[in-house]
Amino acid sequence: MRLQLGDLEIHGITEIEQFDVPLDFMFPEIVTLLRDNDSLVSIDPSVLSYGQVHLTIRSWLLRKDDRVILIDGCVGNHKTRQHWPSWHQRDDDAWPQRLASLGVRPEDVDIVMCTHLHADHVGWNTRLENGIWVPTFPNATYLTGRVEYEYWLADSVAGDKHGSFADSVMPVVEAGQMVFLEDGSDIAHGLSVELAPGHTPGQLLLNARGVDGGAVFCGDVIHSPLQLRFPDISSAICEDRQQATRTRRYLLSRLCENGDFLLPGHFANPGWCQIRAVGDAFEMR
Ligand SMILES: [Zn+2]
Repeated sequence: MRLQLGDLEIHGITEIEQFDVPLDFMFPEIVTLLRDNDSLVSIDPSVLSYGQVHLTIRSWLLRKDDRVILIDGCVGNHKTRQHWPSWHQRDDDAWPQRLASLGVRPEDVDIVMCTHLHADHVGWNTRLENGIWVPTFPNATYLTGRVEYEYWLADSVAGDKHGSFADSVMPVVEAGQMVFLEDGSDIAHGLSVELAPGHTPGQLLLNARGVDGGAVFCGDVIHSPLQLRFPDISSAICEDRQQATRTRRYLLSRLCENGDFLLPGHFANPGWCQIRAVGDAFEMR
């Protein structure tokens, strides 16, 4: 599936079509809201069923002005992720094959944008070569926020709680391919980043402005369409849930006004949508 907005050409590259997380773990307040309000039970079963929130694990490929930009690198292969069985020691080439089917070789990627440094957003940053992690995209400049990097650098000293900093971030830094961005940095004509804190302290949005519309690659500002209906509910894995809510409401309100497309990492196919306001909440339009 392709989203064409003038000179912005966008493709989703799915790694895991459906990744289930228990609702009472991910959004415990929504369990209560659903129980206390019968009118809210009409949730699309592709979003939530049998107490499981259905998420997709996806990267985005953006082509603009002959540049090839990959946004977020999913889980990747051969990574040790014992807390999440479906992420652990994956050996599945579907993701690189989907990239190849778009005519993109690893050496063709110009920019790898890491919205934040969680394990399901940086995995394909690196691949194993003779037992050593090396950057998957040899000619790419990898980008992430300076605040984000410094946060996870400190976490790695304390034990690397997700395990992804050592195998998917540091090898890129050590190869000299990582550039750290500040809030508001321009990365190319019509492409700029914006601090979107809460889920992680230094998460960055990528704002893409084309000749015929805009797109916002928002990382995990929003995980599930459930949060359009319940925009004040942040996930249990958000570092600062109140700040995550402020960031989410700010972004969703802006998208209602300007009509830009929202491209989160975890919505079901096609993975993108436009937003409209419904009372104090939101829905896809
Ligand atoms: Zn995340």
